[in-house]
Amino acid sequence: MEIIVIGGGAAGMAAAIEAAGLGAKVTLLERMDRIGKKLLATGNGRCNLMNTGAPCYPGGEAFAHAVLDRCGVKEQTAFWHEVGLRLREEDGGRVYPASGQASTVLDALRLALENRHVDVMTGAAVKDIRPCKHGFTVVTEEQSLRCDKVILAGGGCAQPKLGSDGSLWSIMEKLGHTLVKPKPALTQIMTETLPIKGISGIRVKAEVAVVKGASILHQESGEVLFTDYGVSGVCVMQCARFAEQGSVIRLNLLRGMGFADAKQAEEEILRRRDTWADQPMEKLMTGLCMPKLAGSLCMEAGIRFRDRVIGSLKISEAAVLARVLEAFQLPVKGVKGFETAQVTAGGLDVNEFIRETMESRLVPGLYAAGEMLDVDGTCGGFNLMFAFGSGLIAARACMEEKA
Ligand SMILES: Cc1cc2nc3c(=O)[nH]c(=O)nc-3n(C[C@H](O)[C@H](O)[C@H](O)COP(=O)(O)OP(=O)(O)OC[C@H]3O[C@@H](n4cnc5c(N)ncnc54)[C@H](O)[C@@H]3O)c2cc1C
Repeated sequence: MEIIVIGGGAAGMAAAIEAAGLGAKVTLLERMDRIGKKLLATGNGRCNLMNTGAPCYPGGEAFAHAVLDRCGVKEQTAFWHEVGLRLREEDGGRVYPASGQASTVLDALRLALENRHVDVMTGAAVKDIRPCKHGFTVVTEEQSLRCDKVILAGGGCAQPKLGSDGSLWSIMEKLGHTLVKPKPALTQIMTETLPIKGISGIRVKAEVAVVKGASILHQESGEVLFTDYGVSGVCVMQCARFAEQGSVIRLNLLRGMGFADAKQAEEEILRRRDTWADQPMEKLMTGLCMPKLAGSLCMEAGIRFRDRVIGSLKISEAAVLARVLEAFQLPVKGVKGFETAQVTAGGLDVNEFIRETMESRLVPGLYAAGEMLDVDGTCGGFNLMFAFGSGLIAARACMEEKA
């Protein structure tokens, strides 16, 4: 059995190693000069490759669950054991290589490719795939290659500088597949900048909600980073797929400042008014947050600092400030694009693939795995876990059908 795997990312490497291990003659085609470039950038260079908790996929949930039911934590742990990678589980079920280095993961995968005699061809951008009698012809700029089966693992189009540019989607569309419109997911959110002017770089613990009119579209909690264009941080990135023009990012800062609710915050502000009466107004939020953030929050509450002492604070101003701490509103202007997104939402319509095998329902012998499918997970290792799991399933299915 001759198999061509297209894409030397997570899904492609897993598929190539597995298929070769099961006896196939495998060629791995990668358009970049090296395989695994994106893998090295994952998890801030630590590669959060799996999650032992409940699967969390805002895009393609049912398909992702079916894939992980067949090839989830147990099966993927066995795969990592097989290729010699030691793992370590951290908070929230996040699994990393024990070394804490993404490069260790890539080293283990590269050695497994070598040990199983996978022919890795880099600088080989695939331009076309032509089904022919008893197999396929795969066309790169340099050559045409014949094979029995093809596994596509070209990724989405998040961070194209790391390799995945969506170029395989158009080939799949030509073969009759449907592309669900790709959009950036797990990315930063751009907001009105006036309310956060001067606080870029400050981090706070907050409950984050994407609100449109009276509806809450999505909620997360965690650390928020203010930037010069809006907000960032894991919980913000998980809100990005819900943020659209006309929506608002609402930050509840109360718990992060140690308050149970707005009433308690208001009482504390009034206590300060009475006990710190002679202090300048800019000291009002001392001990609650960074002075620059205090300035932004007071400005949002309409509390003027200049030539005022804390004792001059009106009761109504304390109430408004407490409300701002409960609901600091930042109108959404958009989300950052594919250049900075970690994942693509959208991709090949999963209804056109058999979830037990990853084989195309339209082109028998053609399989797809990883981010090029319309599946996207939250932060925490879910995207790599889907990529590795679906790659392994595709490889096994290719070989099972032969048997
Ligand atoms: C900065 C960053 C950090 C991340 N951190 C994490 C994390 O910690 N945990 C997690 O679970 N997920 C993380 N992700 C998401 C995760 O990396 C991806 O979902 C995952 O790598 C997808 O794997 P893939 O194999 O499907 O695609 P990719 O890894 O994108 O690989 C696709 C490969 O195909 C190649 N290719 C594309 N088109 C062609 C063509 N025409 N011909 C030949 N080759 C082609 C590309 O060059 C690329 O090497 C992160 C993503 C980014 C960008």
